[in-house]
Amino acid sequence: MRLDRFLSETTDLTRSLAKKALHRGEVSVNGEVTKQPALQVGEQDRVCWGEEPLVLVGLRYIMLNKPAGVECSARRGLYPRAIELIDLPRSERLQTVGRLDVDTTGMVLLTDDGQWSHRVTSPRKRCGKVYRVTLADPLEGEALESAVAGFAEGVLLDGEEKPTRPAELSMLGPFDAELTLYEGKYHQVKRMFGAIGNRVEALHRVAIGPLSLDALAPGEWRELSDEEVAAFT
Ligand code: URA
Repeated sequence: MRLDRFLSETTDLTRSLAKKALHRGEVSVNGEVTKQPALQVGEQDRVCWGEEPLVLVGLRYIMLNKPAGVECSARRGLYPRAIELIDLPRSERLQTVGRLDVDTTGMVLLTDDGQWSHRVTSPRKRCGKVYRVTLADPLEGEALESAVAGFAEGVLLDGEEKPTRPAELSMLGPFDAELTLYEGKYHQVKRMFGAIGNRVEALHRVAIGPLSLDALAPGEWRELSDEEVAAFT
């Protein structure tokens, strides 16, 4: 790849700042200072910016058990960001695959592979996201039957033009629901239960497509295996 691109992928420099660093003679390739942005470099070359050797990192795929009080935003805000929990080089390049609310816990995927992210989030791919929901009021009997049927058919949420896609609801106990969604509208789970007169007290995502949140403690993360990455086709 071109040297200016290599610099922008391995440092915080933009392409144009990389060109300026080159112009100032701050970059060497295999021990020789070079000022050529178009020079082709690869993994075999030793590229340094000042004294710092630069290493290309490949695409990363990560599963995090998001604790409450952490946000999935790329921008700095009120809360720590999910990417700040991932102590890998250039973690600021990672993006969360979809979002969980600050108070929602559980599985978040992160990657720097935009196409893969799209495959996981696109409703057309029908990749189920499974949520454990703690409800404020019990859901039983006819109200439950009506909720199961209504969620399976689709709910028209306030401010939306189209109903939600068919979702699967089952109960683990009167206050504990499991809901599988195939899309990700803003606050969708909370709004769906709000639409049937209930309220979500706690929300935890346990699975996305073929992946289940394994024994990761809150705040822990791990890289996905090649097979796990390939499972989202
Ligand atoms: N639905 C919600 O309401 N919140 C989430 O964090 C995820 C799905």
